[in-house]
Amino acid sequence: MNNIELKRFWEKVKEELIGSLPESVHPWIYSLEVSGYDKGVLTVVTGQTMAKEWLRKNHSVQMDSILQKISQNNNARIHIIYDETAAHQLKKETEKIHKKEMEAQLKEQAMENLSCMHSSANLNLKYKFENFVVGDNNKFAHDAALAVAKHPATKFNPLFIYGNAGLGKTHLMQAIGHYTIFNNPKLRVKYTKTDDYISDFISNSRKTNDSIENMSKFNKKYTNIDIILIDDIQLIESKEKTMVRMQQTFDTLYEKGKQIVITSDRLPEEIPKITDALSSRFKKGLMVELTPPDFNTRLEIIKNIAKNNDIKADKDALEYVAKYFSKNVRELEGAFTKVCAYAEFYNKQITIDLAREVLKCDENNKQITFDNITEVTAKYFEVDINDIKGTTRSQKISLARQTAIYICRELTNQSFELIGEFFRRKHTTTMYAYEQIKGKINSQKNISSSIREIKQALKVL
Ligand code: ADP
Ligand code: MG
Repeated sequence: MNNIELKRFWEKVKEELIGSLPESVHPWIYSLEVSGYDKGVLTVVTGQTMAKEWLRKNHSVQMDSILQKISQNNNARIHIIYDETAAHQLKKETEKIHKKEMEAQLKEQAMENLSCMHSSANLNLKYKFENFVVGDNNKFAHDAALAVAKHPATKFNPLFIYGNAGLGKTHLMQAIGHYTIFNNPKLRVKYTKTDDYISDFISNSRKTNDSIENMSKFNKKYTNIDIILIDDIQLIESKEKTMVRMQQTFDTLYEKGKQIVITSDRLPEEIPKITDALSSRFKKGLMVELTPPDFNTRLEIIKNIAKNNDIKADKDALEYVAKYFSKNVRELEGAFTKVCAYAEFYNKQITIDLAREVLKCDENNKQITFDNITEVTAKYFEVDINDIKGTTRSQKISLARQTAIYICRELTNQSFELIGEFFRRKHTTTMYAYEQIKGKINSQKNISSSIREIKQALKVL
């Protein structure tokens, strides 16, 4: 028995003694402190001589039998010692242990509150800023999300995070929620998937008998909060009534000075039948895009998974996975998890050969090159490749050229010099072309959708 176990054991015995012995002796029982338990002898110390004498004379048989019952040892007995200093010392020790236990209990309670808050806020514990790897593709979005988490409803409201599936939108959005819950627990956070919002709205508006009351409950649920996180807003497409309601929800939140964060897999204007009011509300704040991570960021992401899960893997195995899963972080994680599972099942090392065997990536897969980007872009705009590289300045060809340059830069991350060489232009001209398209992507729907379609044809989406 260690010291704490001994104290606990004594607490149990003491409780029984208090329950069985007359009240008049309770103060003496309380004066007893345990000092040891050896070979069935439980030694207790008191600082009061009377306590020792009285208990020993009048109650020792009863006390021993209680101990025998609890310890299940028929020879056990309680030995009472009088020692003022030792009793004082032991008392202090017991108080210290009590205090520690109280603190641990409080901590446990706090953790319980937190996990309860998490489930009511619907957050996944993994999605925190600490677990989010920052790279060129997501730095701006990450910094904006962190700024919102630190100072909600001050600058970027709403924050609109957009990008293709599996690039970390939900992760970043929930990271804002976690940050707030941990650092500012008084604030109420609500995370909601758009489809849940829609079905909640529909089911509330269908209940006819007390629909006004229902709607006001619904409104309260989504406006009585400090930060609302609405995931995958594109799912609201064509649901006009829900859009109107959401618009009201946002107006109320905005007026109350509350933070709104939204994610979407596309730009607001690309959401079918979106109302102007809603679309312009989204654009009033800050819009940030997530693009696919470059090789080093991908490598860092799986290295992190390995580290967090104590997984040992060869460097070139990690590089192999990072190389072939480039468009979607969810798929990248899935591929790595598959290799790890395989290694665990069959008790193998994680080597490049194992990764090859498990993932069977097509290593002859056509790489994305300036040539095939230009070829696909020319086809899309119905112009000649030679014209794209040539000097013609017609509007159609210029747009095709600028688009090809933009996509080359985005997908290959090569320097403007190199891209300029390919398109037979100065690097400043390619840089200008890139900036032109980048500037128009958010405002001109035809440009963003042509880029999307070309990327689809290149099979990078
Ligand atoms: P989206 O909502 O854009 O479809 P998610 O946020 O669900 O994507 O991300 C998909 C998976 O990839 C999640 O498991 C997420 O944790 C992970 N992930 C995405 N980006 C990163 C990143 N930069 N660092 C670490 N993990 C990431
Ligand atoms: Mg998501």
